[in-house]
Amino acid sequence: MKRNVLIIGAGGVAQVVAHKCAQNNALLGHIHIASRTLGKCQAIIDSIHAKNSLQQPGTLQAHALDAMDVEATKFLIRATHSQIVINVGSPFLNMSVLAACLETGAAYLDTAIHEDPLKVCETPPWYANHEWKRRQACRDAGVTAILGVGFDPGVVNAYARYALDHCFDRVDSIDIIDINAGSHGRYFATNFDPEINFREFVSTVWSWEDRAWKANAMFEHRRDWDMPVTGVSTTYLTGHDELHSLSQHLDVPNIRFWMGFSAHYINVFTVLKNLGLLSEQPVRTARGLEVVPLEVVKAVLPDPASLAPDYQGKTCIGDLLKGERNGQPHEVLIYNSCDHGESFTEVGSQAISYTAGVPAVAAALLIANGIWDVGQMANVEELDPVPFIALMNRMGLQTRIRDAQGDRLLDVRLPEEKLRANAR
Ligand code: NDP
Repeated sequence: MKRNVLIIGAGGVAQVVAHKCAQNNALLGHIHIASRTLGKCQAIIDSIHAKNSLQQPGTLQAHALDAMDVEATKFLIRATHSQIVINVGSPFLNMSVLAACLETGAAYLDTAIHEDPLKVCETPPWYANHEWKRRQACRDAGVTAILGVGFDPGVVNAYARYALDHCFDRVDSIDIIDINAGSHGRYFATNFDPEINFREFVSTVWSWEDRAWKANAMFEHRRDWDMPVTGVSTTYLTGHDELHSLSQHLDVPNIRFWMGFSAHYINVFTVLKNLGLLSEQPVRTARGLEVVPLEVVKAVLPDPASLAPDYQGKTCIGDLLKGERNGQPHEVLIYNSCDHGESFTEVGSQAISYTAGVPAVAAALLIANGIWDVGQMANVEELDPVPFIALMNRMGLQTRIRDAQGDRLLDVRLPEEKLRANAR
């Protein structure tokens, strides 16, 4: 049984993670929030009190931390007796936070792949460049490290695994489709850290085709999908974290990721990119000041967390799988739809943060009650998806399935005594 959670980061996703941990503190124990800016951690704690989110009276504490500093992170893990660390800070922090967990024995969770600030779009599979190099160390130390347990990556990995295990005899393709049909009313903003958002799209788009990596250009391949909730939705082939583990762990020849973009986003993105303003490489101004253009763009764009109060509409994200069952062609869409306004009412964040934060807390609950406390490094598709989906169905992220029999709730259950997490 692991107890006491240290949340790293105090952005939009951390806001959701903190609220959901508070709603489940009977099982999770003390909750600590640490980020560079102490005031942001304290503001999250204030919002938890304002919304009366604590399941039972308990510790909620804010800390200032530079999580690139492994010694300081180790010290905080030990001082707070945290046995679970949920890293929802910037993806530049992953390897240092993981190092601190390896040395203290705390379980580690994150929601995005590690990024080196000076390298955009590394050689596939991306996990092999950083996280998987620590696989043996996790195994040796018996440390549980669950990688990429947000929505995408995260829930979509569990959907793929579930469908392979329960819906098909053979899967030929997985198309992961991410549609945000919401509107925030600003001229231009990204839904999460602009720096990370743009880094996803400035370089080669990798897809997994006929069991090999294929290099594509951004906005080269467009496809419209008839999605539940959002209707016919336009997407573009995009590179994304989950392809880099699913391709290695599942025996599926074709795996692609499609993201919805408005014409306005593409226009702004194209202008910024062609001007060189999305570069991660430093430049020197006439006054001798060294700046990273991408960091400047981030500094002038709205803070994603600030979009939440005005955000309206819904997301629809899921996996479309095609293959064979009982000798017949078979097609299944497993998906979730999340409402921006409802997310804000419950936890003060928009739906992109909500869909990333709830799965991380579901995974923490599964570690706390031992079901996912595997004592090694794992991507989500390597774990049993049933308790994860069952828990999220009760925590505000319901999974639906659409196939030839219609569209319905994916009503997976585990015996109550096994699920002990009293999840809200
Ligand atoms: P934000 O940019 O809003 O927040 C990031 C936080 O990290 C900030 O509070 C920042 O602190 C903190 N931080 C940055 N550097 C450090 C450091 N050195 N030490 C301590 N804290 C630091 O991001 P989001 O909340 O939107 O996203 C959080 C994570 O979730 C990201 O990794 C993102 O990629 C991922 N994500 C995953 C999704 C999924 O579905 N899998 C979807 C959406 C996001 P400060 O504010 O003080 O600078």
